[in-house]
Amino acid sequence: MDDVSQGQRKASVSVSLDAQVEQSLYAQRERIYPREVHGVYATMRVLAVVVLLGLFYGVLWLHWDGQQLLLFDLPARQFHIFGLTLYPQDFFFLSAILIIGALSLFFFTALAGRVWCGFACPQTVWTEAFLWIERKVEGDRRKQMKLDKSPWSGRKLAIKASKHAIWIGFSLWTGFTFVGYFTPVLDLGSRILAFELGPWETFWVLFYGFATYGNAGWMREQVCIYMCPYARFQSAMFDNNTLVISYDSARGEPRGARKRSADYKSAGLGDCIDCTMCVQVCPTGIDIRDGLQYQCIACAACVDACDRVMEQMDYPKGLIRYTTQSALSGEQPKILRPRVIVYAIVLLGLVAAVGYGLASRMPLALDVIRDRNTLYRETNEGMVENVYILKLINMDDREHDFEITASGIDGMQLSLDADRIPVNAHEVLSVSARVKADPYSLARASSTITFTLQSLGDASLRVEEEARFLGPVVQAR
Ligand code: SF4
Ligand code: SF4
Repeated sequence: MDDVSQGQRKASVSVSLDAQVEQSLYAQRERIYPREVHGVYATMRVLAVVVLLGLFYGVLWLHWDGQQLLLFDLPARQFHIFGLTLYPQDFFFLSAILIIGALSLFFFTALAGRVWCGFACPQTVWTEAFLWIERKVEGDRRKQMKLDKSPWSGRKLAIKASKHAIWIGFSLWTGFTFVGYFTPVLDLGSRILAFELGPWETFWVLFYGFATYGNAGWMREQVCIYMCPYARFQSAMFDNNTLVISYDSARGEPRGARKRSADYKSAGLGDCIDCTMCVQVCPTGIDIRDGLQYQCIACAACVDACDRVMEQMDYPKGLIRYTTQSALSGEQPKILRPRVIVYAIVLLGLVAAVGYGLASRMPLALDVIRDRNTLYRETNEGMVENVYILKLINMDDREHDFEITASGIDGMQLSLDADRIPVNAHEVLSVSARVKADPYSLARASSTITFTLQSLGDASLRVEEEARFLGPVVQAR
């Protein structure tokens, strides 16, 4: 009997341990209903949303001379960026621009904390737009909670269906806009209207639309808390002088409800009236009074909410505020710290290098490809001939006439189909070239020769490219 009960005890212990393990690995999501907030930071966030979404949905429609001003034309391997056209040869600039973006994020994080997360991150911006739609259709936080708790009815179905229909329409428009940055948008639009969209474009419109609907409509704070890598490593860029949203516990505690007219100080209370408004407006559902937490995206909604409460209570604002850990511990905050200065210097250096590189960039490239089918050919006149394909890439916005010359071996002859080669703006033209040389002038089996591509109308447009010339090694005559 004892053995049985011991066994049962062991079994029940192992079951309860399993249950504990299961519990610790999975937390049921509780839906967050962020309360609408008004204030300085809310206005700034709305402005950021309007400007950023306005740019995203608007810029792709800007055209100049029939050319979309911002277009990453992958099939043509051309990136059009406001009059500047970058090619795969300009990979350095594209990489440098991405590095500048990443460094700017480091710089602003060190300076102002998660200002990117709270005001400019696409997840924040689209979630804000989706929340706005939700409030327009379902009503405020209280009405949304009531609707979700109520049993299914025709009214509830109609409200939910309307919200999702608007969300899906908005998401599909977002998907279309996204693809419009990679395929000329006017062409894309006309093909959609004619039901002639290709399979890949259809896939990407739906995929990006689905991602928008899922992330901003359903997952929201889960993306910031569980999926965003930036949330994980940004603490490495924080120090005691980084701006964070913080609750002034020295001033607020002990918290407690009281009448507006009450002499709360003599009752031993701090400034926090424990109204939980700061928690109700938080899009990630945390209580900032528990201290700095990685879930906090620094949206400052709690700052606005608490400032309003402080105003109504006739207390000074700023119980929750942008501050630094140093300032909270009574030290003088330092804006210019070594890491901020290093980020700023590297950033400025990179911006200057890219600016100089773009200003002095040669809008012309020449690729030389040797005919790999034959090493070389001996002609009837006893010459050695190599064949090449020359790729002329005119990255300029206007047409140019070019001439091609070759040098490197005494007495070598270059044969082309034409002496004057016109190449249109942004055209890649392939030209066949044959180079002949006297085998007695070849010092070795492989010699270096140089092709020169020169614009006939603009002396500054000139590039050179080296190639190998192969031939037999023969004794001097
Ligand atoms: S909003 Fe301000 S007063 Fe209200 S609970 Fe939060 S910190 Fe306290
Ligand atoms: S704690 Fe405040 S700043 Fe942080 S996410 Fe919540 S509302 Fe935004």
